[in-house]
Amino acid sequence: MPELPEVEVLRRSLEPRLSGRRIERVAIHVRALRAPLARRPLGALAGRRFLHLDRRGKYLLAALEGERTLVVHLGMSGRLTLVPAALPREPHEHLALFLDGGERLRLRDPRRFGLAFVRPTAGVLAAPPLAHLGIEPLGGAFSGDDLARAARGRRCPVKSLLLDAGVVAGIGNIYACEALFRAGLRPDRPVDRISRPRWRRLGETVIAVLEEAIAAGGTTIQDYTDGAGREGLFRVALAVYGRDGEPCPRCGRAIRRVVLAGRGTWYCPGCQR
Ligand SMILES: [Zn+2]
Repeated sequence: MPELPEVEVLRRSLEPRLSGRRIERVAIHVRALRAPLARRPLGALAGRRFLHLDRRGKYLLAALEGERTLVVHLGMSGRLTLVPAALPREPHEHLALFLDGGERLRLRDPRRFGLAFVRPTAGVLAAPPLAHLGIEPLGGAFSGDDLARAARGRRCPVKSLLLDAGVVAGIGNIYACEALFRAGLRPDRPVDRISRPRWRRLGETVIAVLEEAIAAGGTTIQDYTDGAGREGLFRVALAVYGRDGEPCPRCGRAIRRVVLAGRGTWYCPGCQR
């Protein structure tokens, strides 16, 4: 599943190739992903130029001329790639924007948990589902103090707080596990038993793991490609995620896997408390 760093890497790779390009034609091949694909507003994108490509959490926001923004979420298996227009349509290619210059921007999504919809640019962040997103972990506004504030009055495991997109937008399972490892916090530690310095440390490690993953080009677990369709170019060094039974890189004890709130969770019983 693409997580925030993968979406940011995709954004950076696509933006320079999309900016200034005009959409000539829109083709919709399925009725619905996670929600129906609305033919009329998507079709009305024809004739408009891309201005810039932004990101909020795991949503990509393509601002177009005429105050329209195309919002795309890749769900579990979505891929957004720019390919030659003449390339035959692939299985699961649900939406295609044919651009001037002979390319098309295509959205493939075998599992169809993704989303694509159009909103007026001015209100796009204030309307659902984007309005419900918590603070953006990158960009300078976020710190561990935000986590401490969000934890007040709650008793859930710290990992559940990190994965709550209404608290912080888009950290995801991989990076939650890695940030908790680096912060030395057990994933199941209740949030009402974490001191302010430990929250600050956790905030710093969240930012660090996301920024390192972006710098490395995203974590290629599966179903991830950058905007040019290249796969498997990069791999972030993961300390605990997916490594049950392997030695902890810090203390050598075996990494343990548990299921927390329905998600696979990896941690070191030696150095996470
Ligand atoms: Zn350890």
